[in-house]
Amino acid sequence: MSVIKKYDHSISFAHANMIFAEMKKGEDPCASLHGHNASLEVEVKSTSEVDSVEMPFGDAGKIVKEVIEKLDHSLIAEENDPYMQELAALQDRYLGKRFGMKGKVVWLQQPPTSEVICRYIANYIKNRLPEGIVLTRIRFEETPRSIYELNLT
Ligand SMILES: [Zn+2]
Repeated sequence: MSVIKKYDHSISFAHANMIFAEMKKGEDPCASLHGHNASLEVEVKSTSEVDSVEMPFGDAGKIVKEVIEKLDHSLIAEENDPYMQELAALQDRYLGKRFGMKGKVVWLQQPPTSEVICRYIANYIKNRLPEGIVLTRIRFEETPRSIYELNLT
């Protein structure tokens, strides 16, 4: 029997975004720079037939924590969006001058919708999980009305 382990990060992480593609729609609130306190649920499963407390779930938990730390208090932006590039540069200038640091930006290949962010997190975790552990479910809740869930079983 395989073992299932859940990581529930209902303690949210904050991020900012602005959806360039949505700007065309004008009235869509996501066209303006805004933030979200998102939460994440991750479920992984051991592929081993042997029940064991020695399964490397600790590593899976570290990977989930790692991706949350990467996204927390970041600007999540589409890499080809010229306005986001300008905004990121402005942030770097501002933080550089004041604190000698750069801003936290996570660049994505597509506009940062809930689905795109959820898939980014899923890929990040999948690519780093130790052998014998697979990602089975991920639920990204950007707002109570903007939820994306992937079931990978
Ligand atoms: Zn939004």
